Amino acid sequence: MIQLKNSNDIKPVLQLKHCTCPPASKSNKFWLLLLGGLVAASVVVMILLWQVPVSNVRIYKEGEIITTINLLTVNQPYTYTVEGMVHTGGVSGLNIVEIDHGRVRMQKADCPDGYCVRQGWINSGLVPVVCLPNRVVIAFESGTDNTGIDAVVG
Ligand SMILES: [Zn+2]
Repeated sequence: MIQLKNSNDIKPVLQLKHCTCPPASKSNKFWLLLLGGLVAASVVVMILLWQVPVSNVRIYKEGEIITTINLLTVNQPYTYTVEGMVHTGGVSGLNIVEIDHGRVRMQKADCPDGYCVRQGWINSGLVPVVCLPNRVVIAFESGTDNTGIDAVVG
């Protein structure tokens, strides 16, 4: 009776001593995996949050905002013409922006490269449409800085 009790008391202590050291590296890997997963998840959440609040799109000409359009109020697609830019060579530039519900694109441009037209529709603030030769940019508001800048412009 007494011997049995003794062996039961000792065994857990021995197991504990054996187990403490080796699983430490395993749990490190687990925490690294967990941390990596959390970072990946937060990046996804940030991208989603970035896309949700943007509804206003701005058209810039030579670095200045010439108009701000709320794309969620657009029911019928229409075009907005930006003209009068002078790109290298002294030729007047022309850009026609097409505005639709929740999306916008450069429909036509007389720039030499035509890159802005090829960019197609954009519906988020991740990548703006840039017409470098005509110095026209179509960019979404980030959703946080709109009030201050609009107040200054208006
Ligand atoms: Zn262009």
